Amino acid sequence: MFSSINRRRFLHLSGLAVSATLGACVAPIQAPLPVEAPVQNPQEALDRLLAGNQRYSANRSLPLNESSQRRAEVAQGQHPFATIFSCVDSRVPPEMVFDRGLGDLFVIRTAGHVIDEAVLGSLEFGVAELKIPLLLVMGHAKCGAVKATLEAVEQQAKAPASIGYLVNSITPAIEEAVGQSGDMLDNSIKANVKLTVNQLHESPILAEAVAQGQLLIVGAQYDLDTGAVVMIES
Ligand SMILES: [Zn+2]
Repeated sequence: MFSSINRRRFLHLSGLAVSATLGACVAPIQAPLPVEAPVQNPQEALDRLLAGNQRYSANRSLPLNESSQRRAEVAQGQHPFATIFSCVDSRVPPEMVFDRGLGDLFVIRTAGHVIDEAVLGSLEFGVAELKIPLLLVMGHAKCGAVKATLEAVEQQAKAPASIGYLVNSITPAIEEAVGQSGDMLDNSIKANVKLTVNQLHESPILAEAVAQGQLLIVGAQYDLDTGAVVMIES
């Protein structure tokens, strides 16, 4: 038989076990994000973006800002502070990579961040209508689209159907990387980011916004292993 002390201890421990079980089943109530002031300029937007990536790569991501309160807030109008133009790769989701929630990022993704008219129009819309001050082109390590293009060029093969459009668009980056020291695929990926950044500067709407200091267009590369985004100088 339990002594009264042992009985109390048993009941106490049972209570702890029940609490622990409930705790495992019920998601903790997460603290809301602190209210952020609107970004004042392109550099501030870049700083905010990279701070989010540092949280993500260090496994310190904040609770995702997708609350009903935030949903109601952005339903009144969107004011994303950055455009991310990146690859479609499933391992590189921009909102996760930059630890941002609803209404923060204007995201456009195509394989190898290849531009076509719809993409350019969307990017121009983000600048002309939404006044987004930062446009970040993000390539990533081990990009399948760049790798496929590299192989097609090396084997002088023709890609099927509309995949050929991607290969043709990325081929100048492969040619740029030929003769560079280091890893051919990685050099091609970096060259592809620079190629896209340069192409974006040819848009009159984007170029004008850059000239006015209202827009910054930058290139970056995501590391699949570390989760870190590293800037690429144009
Ligand atoms: Zn890719």
